[in-house]
Amino acid sequence: MKKNILFPQVNGLLHGGDYNPEQWLDRPDILKKDIELMKEAGINSVTMGVFSWAVHEPTEGNISFDWLAPIMDRLYENGIYTILATPTGARPAWLDEKYPSAMRCNEMGVRNHHGVRHNHCMQSPEFREKVRIIDTALAQKFANHPGLLMWHISNEFGGYCYCDTCRKKFQEWLAKRYDHDINKLNKAWWTTFWSHTFNSFDQIDPPYANGENCVMGLNLDWKRFSTWSATDFMRFEIDTLRSAGANEPTTTNYMEMFYDYDYHYMSQFIDVISWDNYPEPHNNWQSDEAHLLERSFNHALYRSLKPDQPFMMMESAPGVVNWRPYNKYRRPGMHNLISMQAVAAGSDTVQYFQIRKSRGSSEQWHGAVIDHIGTNDTRIFKEVASLGADLKKIDEITGTLSDNKVAILFDWDNRWAIDDAWALANDTKNYDKTCMEIYNEFMSLGVEPDIVSSNGDWSRYKVICAPMLYVLQDGIGEKIAEFVEAGGQLMSTYFTGYVNKDLLANLGGFPGDGLDKVFGLRSEEIDTLYPEDEISISILDKTDKRSHSIPVHDYQELLRDVTADVLAKYDNDYMAGTPAITRNSYGEGHAYYVACRTNQNDIEFLYREMLENANIVYTKLPVGIEKHSRFSEDCRYDFYLNCSDKPVAISGVSGLDLLTGKDIDKQLTLEKYGVAVIKNKL
Ligand SMILES: [Zn+2]
Repeated sequence: MKKNILFPQVNGLLHGGDYNPEQWLDRPDILKKDIELMKEAGINSVTMGVFSWAVHEPTEGNISFDWLAPIMDRLYENGIYTILATPTGARPAWLDEKYPSAMRCNEMGVRNHHGVRHNHCMQSPEFREKVRIIDTALAQKFANHPGLLMWHISNEFGGYCYCDTCRKKFQEWLAKRYDHDINKLNKAWWTTFWSHTFNSFDQIDPPYANGENCVMGLNLDWKRFSTWSATDFMRFEIDTLRSAGANEPTTTNYMEMFYDYDYHYMSQFIDVISWDNYPEPHNNWQSDEAHLLERSFNHALYRSLKPDQPFMMMESAPGVVNWRPYNKYRRPGMHNLISMQAVAAGSDTVQYFQIRKSRGSSEQWHGAVIDHIGTNDTRIFKEVASLGADLKKIDEITGTLSDNKVAILFDWDNRWAIDDAWALANDTKNYDKTCMEIYNEFMSLGVEPDIVSSNGDWSRYKVICAPMLYVLQDGIGEKIAEFVEAGGQLMSTYFTGYVNKDLLANLGGFPGDGLDKVFGLRSEEIDTLYPEDEISISILDKTDKRSHSIPVHDYQELLRDVTADVLAKYDNDYMAGTPAITRNSYGEGHAYYVACRTNQNDIEFLYREMLENANIVYTKLPVGIEKHSRFSEDCRYDFYLNCSDKPVAISGVSGLDLLTGKDIDKQLTLEKYGVAVIKNKL
């Protein structure tokens, strides 16, 4: 596995975070102290300018970076690099006052007032012109600065705008998508239903809260359009920087399980994937190990967007956040664990919001490396500094990559369509959760999955799970068939292959698009269960040929025309005796179908069988232990994370622990929240 260094000028991993010296320009003593403290904490990068527009340009056209340039120079002289943001995450008051079109309209089409952040109209020509001017000036001033690592485009893109400009853009986008043929759109959206037929594209509104919002095709196309609109804005910013001479790589910071936009689409247009990781450990609804596994899924999702290079954890909280209903501090050791989890999963950075805690306003109580007390002896500062030292010990992993053979299919269109479908139960659709539970089951076997889209590159995978793949994009039935035929192991579930990309039901039985042949069955009914319903299936145990019963919850499908091998049958109610889990040999591979929702751990035999068929080695890990691996050309680095609050021993681990410098011989013991990085030659 070839090393792929994101930042060749940096010797090792990035450690740093958002830094806002503009809040302290009248305190040169503090700015001087900050640099000393950063060096002491092993910090080698800062992100500046994320919300600095009103300082860069206090009145229209009055642009100056005289405050920023000497700070950036001084940081660089002290070995601290800068990631420079375009300041478009929030707008100065003068801009909204003079150009109200910059302010977004809400889902009723009503214009917002000035304030807050992340709420601009991405299509407003007046706003774009102001963005073009400030971004051009930034690039002209700072491009090719030796201390500049990359460009951070805006901040946490999100949300929808329902203004007239966006309405018009939506109509144009639809006209292009449907070849300027309104009848094509009517057919795709099945508008004959309820007399919703359109005569022309200019009759179509966004799905206003008080307007047309129950045409599923319209709702889905609106989300696709909004993804396009945000991406179009991001590309406009990138193009502006490039035209003004910027050559550094670009990123934009994504968010946890983000729903508004399809990151698979957006990611085509940026150089590096980064995301903001804000876990909530020590909460009152979930164990830390279960909670951190959800983070792990996020890391896998963002790693897999560009699997041939490391990603960045752009933000995380030192100690505590301040915007949740309950804001509990990370207990000692948790900061290290959360940070190392990101690195284990493929991040080449540990970055924070924020380096110095702001004195006032909405995030004045959000965690920071440097607290209001301003000293180097706080618990959090010492934990950050200790992590900084540990990151140096493992700097040889910089640029190493994962090499996973298992993937879970995860599509934004599918998320949106399942949630919007008038079907199943509103409270238990749980597409995201289902994907995560499958991820967790593989992780418990020490096998780390990637998360890919149905349109993505599957060539590196031997096992693919495609749960609840309700929407089949064009050509995906054939792609799945080819994957299995060539020897792949594929698992799918209930609610798969019901509709095409326009959300029109596949005719001739589910799963459609030829998948009935791949699975050797068709599904006739999907039944929704109440939480109180007691349904079970019996699994014929592979090893001792006896059957054992496991519970089913939420959904059960009635299968028909089954030619596949039956691995489990329904026990009771009207589906009793019919197939519930099947395996079909197809070409060189196998297609598994799980027709009902179970706990994944109850069907672990399926996972083991798929991994064995694919010759992938697995080992059941102790509860609470996560394992991730990264590879260089000649070494393998296994990260073991103890996400539980008890010491855990793991057998079968040997190699050099880079953090302690000790050789591990067959048994590794990790303290509560402990981490080991085990190096072995390939
Ligand atoms: Zn708008």
